[in-house]
Amino acid sequence: GETIRIGIAGYGNLGRGVEAAVEKNADMNLVGIFTRRSPADLAPLRPQTPVYNMDELAAHEDGIDVLILCGGSKEDLPQQGPLLAAQFNTVDSFDTHARIPEYFESVDEPARENRKTALISAGWDPGMFSINRVYGEALLPDGDTYTFWGRGLSQGHSDAVRRVPGVAGGVQYTLPSQPAIDKVRSGSRPQLETRQKHTRECFVVLEQDAEPAAVREAIVTMPHYFDQYDTEVHFISAEELARDHRAMPHGGFAIRSGNTSSEHAQVIEYSLTLESNPEFTASVLVAYARAVHRMNKQDQFGAKTVFDVPPGLLSPKSAADLRAELL
Ligand code: NAP
Repeated sequence: GETIRIGIAGYGNLGRGVEAAVEKNADMNLVGIFTRRSPADLAPLRPQTPVYNMDELAAHEDGIDVLILCGGSKEDLPQQGPLLAAQFNTVDSFDTHARIPEYFESVDEPARENRKTALISAGWDPGMFSINRVYGEALLPDGDTYTFWGRGLSQGHSDAVRRVPGVAGGVQYTLPSQPAIDKVRSGSRPQLETRQKHTRECFVVLEQDAEPAAVREAIVTMPHYFDQYDTEVHFISAEELARDHRAMPHGGFAIRSGNTSSEHAQVIEYSLTLESNPEFTASVLVAYARAVHRMNKQDQFGAKTVFDVPPGLLSPKSAADLRAELL
């Protein structure tokens, strides 16, 4: 069969995950990593993976089938997405939910004009959870959709904790509330307040002479981030933080509960338990790169989302094999 040639644009957690994920897909080959930093400063997982400066991307236009954009959603993708979609077929994991419509528009025109296919906002949320929310609503129109996240490390909330005066380091985990999940799974379609659905747990290293009670109060009352939740704060040593909180676990549940008649409730649940959020997200991006390569060959140009991709295109198997083996 044919080999799909993959490039990685940006090498952080997600970029490393894509490097690992390409290894797991026999029909793919990694052309190289492209970074804004000096290539010599990067240590790829595999020493033989070529590393280039982002400036060298244009010279690889004919050598890359799909470029996977691994920059951050806040600063990098709004700028890189439209620019790179004019030159390459792309996949990204843009996850600022409120900004997805405008990001889609910004990528659509350059991709369309240059006969490229640009899949935005893949991953798990947005991504696999989004698909399951669509299935849920379509299959059970008389129903309610619930999304629970965690237990997982939240990058944004961890950053917020680290900005509190007196905090030397720390992480924040989001936890789904078990009583709330149990109620949803029962099919009773409960109305749940923010505080009932999730709790937050912080592990904090104090600066010398910092006052624990004051730090705890500043965290649990922080507007938007913590004030609407019940939050536990644990004080730990720098050694414990380094030893016990390095992994980036995450996951959650996308649940649709609905009624097909006055007699019967139905519950659909899609659940993820992830030891590494970036490695799983990267695995999703790589599967979508296969689909994007195929859609581009079918002249499906412009920006796309996971809603526009038929599931069979994600698989390395042929449509006939999928019918025989998985239907
Ligand atoms: P990250 O580690 O901060 O990397 C983002 C960019 O920062 C990299 O592309 C890299 O670009 C640069 N960078 C990385 N390490 C650096 C360092 N040590 N010094 C200087 N620059 C560095 O972010 P990430 O964890 O990979 O996450 C990327 C995005 O994925 C997030 O913003 C989030 O939006 C998205 N995400 C989506 C989902 C989903 O389900 N849809 C799930 C998880 C994450 P250069 O190599 O060009 O410098």
